Amino acid sequence: MMQINDPILTVDRVSKRFDVSAPWLNRVLEGKPRLLVNAVNEVSFTIARGSCFSIVGESGCGKSTVARLVTGLYATSGGDIRFGRGAEGRPVRVQMIFQDPHSSLNPRWRIGDIIAEPIREMKLRRNEAETNSRVEELLQTVGLAADDARKFPHEFSGGQRQRISIARALACEPELLVCDEPTSALDVSVQAQILNLMRRLQQELGLTYLFISHDLSVVRHMSDMIAVMYLGRIVEMAPVESLFNQPLHPYSQLLLNTIPDIHAPKRARCVDNGEPPSPLNPPSGCAFHPRCALATDACREAVPPLRDLSDGHKAACLLAG
Ligand code: SF4
Repeated sequence: MMQINDPILTVDRVSKRFDVSAPWLNRVLEGKPRLLVNAVNEVSFTIARGSCFSIVGESGCGKSTVARLVTGLYATSGGDIRFGRGAEGRPVRVQMIFQDPHSSLNPRWRIGDIIAEPIREMKLRRNEAETNSRVEELLQTVGLAADDARKFPHEFSGGQRQRISIARALACEPELLVCDEPTSALDVSVQAQILNLMRRLQQELGLTYLFISHDLSVVRHMSDMIAVMYLGRIVEMAPVESLFNQPLHPYSQLLLNTIPDIHAPKRARCVDNGEPPSPLNPPSGCAFHPRCALATDACREAVPPLRDLSDGHKAACLLAG
């Protein structure tokens, strides 16, 4: 198994259960049972300092719940989340970049105040002059003008607003950025600009990313490691080239097959046998078996463990390897 010497984040058998039952009175009067959804099931991974770890999967697979568990927006139902040390031995600072830059910026605040807020709250600069100069520096770092500090969020395009979100996240000098679909609300050409900016910032500032996306093609050029999630579990985890060159789980193969290829627009594609099942009523055994062309009776009986099949390449499939 691949060892990581200096992990910035260790997620150890973490689970998250949500109670989605009807109100107590309705349950009593209508005889409805309690309903629990296991959004995340015993998920484990480690992120090396300075790397980009991506989690990919369809909507509802639990990837955004993992992001919220890591940032503390949700409490875990089980398992452990541990951080390494931050700069100068202090606790690691974690910041989140959200999917929708429009709703994550206060429309009544000027950009300068939005970015300055964490600097003031955490007393990262000695006075207002230093805070303002730091805000200008951050705006220029993300490709905006220092004068933009006086404007309001509605005066910017979607891509510019995501740049502002990144500047605000950088304002508190974090080591770990959790990016939840940061480009999925943007046009394709703007997506590429934001991804290039994020890669440049990672190199210049030594940042670590936990990157969440539904699109394997988006994370390919960002990631060092990729985990593929399906119905609350990691079904494959591998270094990026290993996953793209030799996907071992049929679900990863399906995701890779859906990436458009400009050089082979008419290539044969494997057929997707339907939609993901409801997490309220997950299939027995391997949750992917209703969609898997290779499924056998054994696949319906027990959940396949995530096995290390070659150096650092793991898959949870009875037939893989
Ligand atoms: Fe398909 Fe069986 Fe592997 Fe699940 S365990 S992915 S059903 S072959």
